[in-house]
Amino acid sequence: MLGKRLEKVRERIEQAAERAARPASEIHLIAVTKKFPASLIREAYELGLRDFGENYVQEFEQKRSDLQGLNGARFHLIGHLQSNKARKAAALFDGVQTVDSPKLASKLNEGRAELGPDALEAMVEVKLSPEEAKAGVGEKALAETIGAFPGLEHLRLTGLMTMPPWSDDPERSRPYFRKLKELARQYGLKNLSMGMSHDLEVAIEEGATHIRVGTALFGPRPKA
Ligand SMILES: *Cc1c(COP(=O)(O)O)cnc(C)c1O
Repeated sequence: MLGKRLEKVRERIEQAAERAARPASEIHLIAVTKKFPASLIREAYELGLRDFGENYVQEFEQKRSDLQGLNGARFHLIGHLQSNKARKAAALFDGVQTVDSPKLASKLNEGRAELGPDALEAMVEVKLSPEEAKAGVGEKALAETIGAFPGLEHLRLTGLMTMPPWSDDPERSRPYFRKLKELARQYGLKNLSMGMSHDLEVAIEEGATHIRVGTALFGPRPKA
């Protein structure tokens, strides 16, 4: 089941990359495993997946001990992070894509500093729609958050992340993806984490380097 779905997702990536005249190899597939057990992460790893996205610090903390020995696996936090959990997140994850304030960046930096010289990969989450519920830094405050990084030697800022408002129509995501790319260019950042199961093609056409895919790989998430 997972093998078949993975094959299908890889085909979608390749076809979109071809349309966009981009090498498929520059697009990282992050398998989003929130609400699924560690055993599924292992299964995905066996099939060759190496990048995993999780949304909740506490949930991942519980799975982490069952994930020993997955050499080369990288775990990314893609859900909203409260600064009181930053220290824990800095220790558990290889990357945090949802940095949304100078304060959070600073807390992550402190947490990481205790662990040694390996920097934590960071992305700033940008909120591009006026929806109340969406997390992320607004465009106006983006300069301030990005400006905090040069002083934080245990973080390595690599790019921007966004999540457009949900729509069945993937074309609705396109203006948001285009905007994120423009912002990354302005700030000289290379990576763009954008696109999910339903709109990954559009994201790739607009320059995504990291797509975050859950449902298309694993099916509907368990409710509990
Ligand atoms: C759950 C989640 C995804 C994956 O969504 P699917 O539609 O299941 O592919 C991607 N990004 C974020 C931030 C998520 O929370």
